[in-house]
Amino acid sequence: QAKARGRNGYQFYAPSMSGEGVERLRLETMLRRAIEKNEIFLHYQPQVDIDSGRLVGVEALVRWQSPELGRVEPTRFIPVAEDTGFIGQLGQWVLAEACRQMVCWDTDGLRVPKMAVNLSVRQFDRGSIAPTVAAVLHGAGLAPARLQLEVTESVIMNTGDALEYINDLRAIGVGLAIDDFGTGYSSLAYLKQLPVQTLKIDRSFIKDISADAGADANAEAIAVAIIQLGKSLNLSVIAEGVESEEQAAFLLRHGCSHAQGYLYSRPVLPAEILARWGQGQDKEQHDANEAAASN
Ligand code: C2E
Ligand code: MG
Ligand code: MG
Ligand code: MG
Repeated sequence: QAKARGRNGYQFYAPSMSGEGVERLRLETMLRRAIEKNEIFLHYQPQVDIDSGRLVGVEALVRWQSPELGRVEPTRFIPVAEDTGFIGQLGQWVLAEACRQMVCWDTDGLRVPKMAVNLSVRQFDRGSIAPTVAAVLHGAGLAPARLQLEVTESVIMNTGDALEYINDLRAIGVGLAIDDFGTGYSSLAYLKQLPVQTLKIDRSFIKDISADAGADANAEAIAVAIIQLGKSLNLSVIAEGVESEEQAAFLLRHGCSHAQGYLYSRPVLPAEILARWGQGQDKEQHDANEAAASN
């Protein structure tokens, strides 16, 4: 249909020669070299038990610091990696690095219960990724149960053999979470068949929970509905993007005990996770130490 737009090949190629096309190509070329040049690394964001402040897991979030481009956001380069097929390599690197980090923390005396890693729909293009995941876990020496893979509803609905692939992953013993839950189109009937353990309430529903009169009643109702759904399907529920005490209190009041968000921590380097949560420190202890240090 692109040809119909113009009478000749010149016009056919014109769109890809636009500024945006060139920019994307440049990004792609640089991204392909970024791993070997050590420009790609991971940040980890704590997942906490709201009530006790205990660390229940971390989510690995990929970062790209390019000497030429500066910090490039994952929301900008992940789509490029997906379109170009580079996501396979990138995803595998992320998985291996995240598993390696878990074992490092173990060695340093910090046992992080669970590592959450995001999977892209494109990582299922070549079929089941369970063998790759199993190999990475084996290589790192990490128990499968300590890995939780995050997939979005679109991964599940847009992948032809999604159920089979998800079952393969479950069969090797890794956990599965549905990320950004509530923003996609998964049917509830389908959800019941999936061997997932966790629903992650999308940030958009958490963002509008507040003590103000301007609070979005719809967002609050959806958050509550997701918590209830999780309860009835026997799934654990975690909220993403928790930024305020009001939001945390709301979640706790409605039966969601786990949260992730800036209220607790931004995504940080591994050393920062170790410093804050290592040596058996829990949040209260950490806060007490901080308070003592500043007195
Ligand atoms: P996501 O998996 O839903 O990750 C949560 C995003 O929300 C992260 O953005 C995180 O930094 C941000 N966030 C966490 N808490 C808060 C908060 O309290 N407030 C606000 N405003 N934001 C918060 P980030 O790191 O920029 O990642 C964006 C998305 O990029 C991720 O969304 C995920 O879909 C994708 N992504 C990141 N790393 C990877 C990866 O290794 N592989 C794949 N396939 N996708 C990734
Ligand atoms: Mg995620
Ligand atoms: Mg998410
Ligand atoms: Mg999200």
